[in-house]
Amino acid sequence: SKPVQLSVHLHPYGEGRNLLLSRDITAVEQAEAMRRDFVANVSHEIRTPLTVLAGFVETLQSLPLEEPERQRYLGLMSQQAERMQTLVNDLLMLSRLEGSPLPSAQDWVSVHGLLRQCRQEAGDLSRMLWGETQDIAFDMGEDSEIAGSLTELHSAVFNLIGNAIRYTPADKSIRVVWRASPVGGGMLSVQDTGPGIAPEHLPRLTERFYRIDRSRSRDTGGTGLGLAIVKHVAQRHAAELSIESVPGKGSSFSIFFSPPRVRPTLQPIRLAA
Ligand code: ADP
Repeated sequence: SKPVQLSVHLHPYGEGRNLLLSRDITAVEQAEAMRRDFVANVSHEIRTPLTVLAGFVETLQSLPLEEPERQRYLGLMSQQAERMQTLVNDLLMLSRLEGSPLPSAQDWVSVHGLLRQCRQEAGDLSRMLWGETQDIAFDMGEDSEIAGSLTELHSAVFNLIGNAIRYTPADKSIRVVWRASPVGGGMLSVQDTGPGIAPEHLPRLTERFYRIDRSRSRDTGGTGLGLAIVKHVAQRHAAELSIESVPGKGSSFSIFFSPPRVRPTLQPIRLAA
């Protein structure tokens, strides 16, 4: 972090005090810079599809197009509108997640149920992006229940599966693994055989809008917010996200869920009156 030269003459309380104040101001400045970055990023992400949309509208208004051509333009416009919708949905989700430290619901979420839903959607996404289904194996082990919000957990897990599908070529394989821990909780891991991630990117991957390859991310419908959402959802569910990757071999994104504070299968003991 950059040092802030300030206040040495304003606060004659000794060096310690000056140092403390300088550090506080650095933190405030950093937060402000991050906020500015974020707003700039959001504006840019919205402006790009908007510009394209406005361009198509103008073309449609000014050129007498044949029907097939007109339909093609409308299709492209709908894609841009969809991109903005996805972005706004991700932004709203992230803002809700950052607003409170607790999950939005306290259900007992069956991991098998969650993964079955994801398996269906994974096939659909893979077909849509690649025109065929990649080899996606689900290795589910024993079922277990996780305390928290189904909506949030689904969003986190499907973000990881979606990334694996989007960054792994069609002829390569993906594995989704669940291993329940005997004491509750467990590990959910999404492993791909895609391009992998160079070690210098790993620490920044969960930052909002951090992308290694911008155009690759955008072309496949990425908003750059997915892993930030995953990290927040994990934190809110007392879980931890761990990323391992070997460039050229593939990546593995794992969420470690700690045992719940109350075991779902245990009923409270009733004392006889
Ligand atoms: P995006 O919408 O761009 O995918 P994410 O936050 O989900 O945003 O991911 C951030 C970046 O991390 C991506 O842009 C991509 O560069 C990289 N990434 C994420 N998942 C993978 C993966 N499975 N394989 C390779 N790179 C990945």
